[in-house]
Amino acid sequence: MKVFSKVKDLQAHLKSLKNQSVGFVPTMGALHDGHISLMKQSIKRNDVTVCSIFVNPTQFNDKKDLKKYPRTLEKDSRLLEKAKVDILFAPGVKDIYPKGTKHSVKVNLKGLDKQMEGAFRPGHFEGVVQVVHRLLDIVKPDELFMGQKDFQQFTIIQQMIRNLKMKVKLVVCPIEREKDGLAMSSRNRRLTKAKRRDAPIIYKTLKAAKRRMKTKTVQEVVEMSMKELGNPRGYNPEYFSIINGNTLKEIKKWSDSNYLVACVAVWAGEIRLIDNLIL
Ligand code: AMP
Repeated sequence: MKVFSKVKDLQAHLKSLKNQSVGFVPTMGALHDGHISLMKQSIKRNDVTVCSIFVNPTQFNDKKDLKKYPRTLEKDSRLLEKAKVDILFAPGVKDIYPKGTKHSVKVNLKGLDKQMEGAFRPGHFEGVVQVVHRLLDIVKPDELFMGQKDFQQFTIIQQMIRNLKMKVKLVVCPIEREKDGLAMSSRNRRLTKAKRRDAPIIYKTLKAAKRRMKTKTVQEVVEMSMKELGNPRGYNPEYFSIINGNTLKEIKKWSDSNYLVACVAVWAGEIRLIDNLIL
């Protein structure tokens, strides 16, 4: 595996790979099997796979979260090597934002950034759009791989690609879960033992919502889910939204859309977890 931290060096290498398709997986590191499933998809579909590891400061609305975000570059590098990723790009903040972090990308997001994560994490998606735009501009991949785990994120990036008429194809990969149902996340390792033990409640509630669709109203399902998610000690749900998966707007009745998704954000002590299920 080739490792680069400088934009120029990466680009010189990519230029030498004539006529090979490039798949790109952007990450913030602290890699787990969810990330690796994206690498595998990219390797299957492309000649060359580039993974980036960059903890992007501009998408953290909470400075404490940024400071505590796990950084495990050496271990990540070994995992990527084992997965047969071709290139690791691990830049610093100055490499990504040589002119400072202020500049923003003008994209019509059609209100996709207004609810859920957008409502509770002000500025988060501006940072995500800014960094993914910059990384795509550097790597110029044929395919971009993102996880369904961050449903609103991939929807917004899809809109950016459409709005700016970018050439890259977005491939969305399913959510990888632990055996007990908890969606894999770099933040899981920061859960206390007790919070980790209670964490399967999130996926259980999502699955219950899918069952309850048959007999309950949307509002009843949302109320029951919020209540259940608040049951374990130290658990505090922020939202449980049943949305139209295209517009990300909350629905009022089941017939409002034929692409329904339940999305959830929960505080488990000091750690904020998100998950979703296509209904
Ligand atoms: P992150 O490092 O958290 O920014 O995630 C990098 C990419 O991995 C994003 O596209 C995520 O949606 C994806 N991802 C994170 N967790 C999972 C998971 N459990 N299953 C599949 N993809 C995931």
